[in-house]
Amino acid sequence: MNNGLDTLDRRALVRALLTTIDPEPDREGLVDTPKRVDKAYKELFAGYDQHPDDILKTTFEEGSCDEMVVLRDIVGYSTCEHHVLPFSYVAHVGYVPAGKVVGISKLARLVELFGRRLQIQEKLTTQIADTLVDKIKPKGVMVVIEGQHLCMLARGVKQHRSVMVTSAVRGLFKEDEKARREFLSLIGKGGA
Ligand code: ZN
Repeated sequence: MNNGLDTLDRRALVRALLTTIDPEPDREGLVDTPKRVDKAYKELFAGYDQHPDDILKTTFEEGSCDEMVVLRDIVGYSTCEHHVLPFSYVAHVGYVPAGKVVGISKLARLVELFGRRLQIQEKLTTQIADTLVDKIKPKGVMVVIEGQHLCMLARGVKQHRSVMVTSAVRGLFKEDEKARREFLSLIGKGGA
C-alpha cells in the first residue's frame, strides 16, 4: 500500500476527513485517530505488498495424489472497495491436483493476501481460484466464500443477517457434478 503517499500524507488526509464529520477533530478521543487509522490501514491493506508467488513458490510433487484437497472455514476480514468498510468472510478452497500440491496453510495465506486489499467479494473469490489455476495447474479449483458486509449490516438496506455467497468454479469442477457435490459436502454444504 503506497501509491506515492507516505504515512504523514495519509494521516493528514484522515484528519481532513475527520474535520468534515466532527466539529472538534482535535479533542482527546480524536487527536490520535489519524495515527491509529494509518496503522490499521497498513495491516488491513498489507496484501498490496505481497505477491502470490511468495506464498506458492514451494510446491510438492512427491507423494501428491489426485484426490481432492479441501481447506474449509478460512475465517478473515477484507474491506469493501465501494464503501471502505470491512466485511467478514468464511472461505472454502478446494482443488484436485495434477501432480503438484501446496502446503495446506498456503491456501489460507493466499486467501488472506487477497483479503488484505480493497475488494469486492466476487473479485476476491475469482482471484483466489485463478491464482491457483495459474500457479499450480491443478485439474480443477473450486472456491466458495460467505461474506457479511458491514456496508449492508449498518447502512443502506440494513440487512443484519444476510450472507452473501460467491463461488468460482474452474477446470474439472465445471463438468463434473460429482466433484462439485463432493466439495460442497466436504465444506458442510452438502445434501442438495
Ligand atoms: Zn460495500
